[in-house]
Amino acid sequence: MTSTGLSMDVRTTAKRTVLISGASISGPALAYWLHRSGCAVTVVEKAGALRAGGYPIDIRGTATEVVRRMGILPRLRDAHIDSRRCIFLDADGSEVASLNPSAVAGGVEGQDLEVRRGDLAASLYALVRDDVEFLFGDSIDTLDQSGQGVDVTFHSGQRRTFDLVVGADGMHSHTRESLFGPEEQFHRYLGYCFAIFTMPNTFGLSREVVMWNTPGKAAALYAVGDNDEVHAFLNFHQPEPPLDALRNPDAQRDLVATVFAGAGWEVPGMVNALRDADDLFFDTAGQIRMPHWSSGRVALVGDAAYAPSFLTGQGSSLALVGAYMLANALATHRDHTAAFAAYERDVREFVAVNQALVDTGGATLFPTTAQALEQRNTRLRGLVTLPSAPARPAHSALTLPAFATMP
Ligand SMILES: Cc1cc2nc3c(=O)[nH]c(=O)nc-3n(C[C@H](O)[C@H](O)[C@H](O)COP(=O)(O)OP(=O)(O)OC[C@H]3O[C@@H](n4cnc5c(N)ncnc54)[C@H](O)[C@@H]3O)c2cc1C
Repeated sequence: MTSTGLSMDVRTTAKRTVLISGASISGPALAYWLHRSGCAVTVVEKAGALRAGGYPIDIRGTATEVVRRMGILPRLRDAHIDSRRCIFLDADGSEVASLNPSAVAGGVEGQDLEVRRGDLAASLYALVRDDVEFLFGDSIDTLDQSGQGVDVTFHSGQRRTFDLVVGADGMHSHTRESLFGPEEQFHRYLGYCFAIFTMPNTFGLSREVVMWNTPGKAAALYAVGDNDEVHAFLNFHQPEPPLDALRNPDAQRDLVATVFAGAGWEVPGMVNALRDADDLFFDTAGQIRMPHWSSGRVALVGDAAYAPSFLTGQGSSLALVGAYMLANALATHRDHTAAFAAYERDVREFVAVNQALVDTGGATLFPTTAQALEQRNTRLRGLVTLPSAPARPAHSALTLPAFATMP
């Protein structure tokens, strides 16, 4: 564990002290804005180092303004994937339609960004690593709010007290569970499971996405640039979430192999590659919907509070905007109760319209019946001549306030 040593109470300094759990997207983004507003920030991350990997993610609308204000827009533009086309295939591998990617995703060409998740996480981390204390390979065991701050016991045994704690620890947030109870109360399962991993690019693919579908099943290969590797994606309809498999990678591999047994195109090779993949990311497609995002001195941000699911393509954008708005609320209101209330009031509608995208678009890319698949394919063929779809209003449904200076 990378640590600062013995138990200490950092509240003796005049600065407001904040502990953030999770160093992916929302955690480091929040750390940046809190540091900028004069807080002393510590980030604790369960993994031993910054986690690389993950499928390419989108930064759109209001979130683009957040990264511009952080000064990393040029770096992210350099990392922009700029896919040339998105090809949809039938069960036997024959082409249904070949489209401009933004015609599918409703992105704004030249403005929206698509970057590897690891590139975004690395850019955010690089921005704050010298100003913020990072504790890798550790996590919060207990939170006690009975005193003047939050007394935290870490898994390593270290004990410290912070003014505030924020859970940025993702969809399966431990912070949320210790504050509000089991995930089931807040998790809205959307009927799909997915596996993401990298595999050798033996297909000659370059800056393109190829997606194969049968009812209830999808397999995609995503070539980012001309790399030797492609991102592989296997998504399938499953009426009930496979709870047993969620914490067991071997069970996940078995489940995927069973579901895709006998499938055509390149799927058998993908399932084989999944067996060897050391960067498997498996999860259910689901959303987190909570009546409140804070309790006392502890708040939640990003997927921990309002995961929208990959079907909306808005997870990282909500995380970036939520982090900015939470830090801005804390910079505006010295009283954390007022700050957390303002954060919820100002962000909730933005979250709601983006989570609602799942009903109007996302899931229709993955039809579960033959009839729905045929309808989707007809719709896709109709998009072939379109350079891009109109931007989705939800992506820009929040206008960022100027960042406040500490009261
Ligand atoms: C390795 C990885 C790959 C991903 N790949 C994809 C993908 O391909 N497609 C997609 O749609 N989304 C993916 N995601 C999720 C995506 O990053 C989020 O939906 C979105 O960016 C919101 O980010 P977040 O920071 O709120 O949560 P997350 O990105 O989920 O980050 C949560 C962080 O908290 C850490 N953490 C978890 N529990 C604890 C704990 N108890 N104590 C301390 N730290 C903890 C995790 O290691 C992680 O770094 C991935 C996430 C990770 C971590």
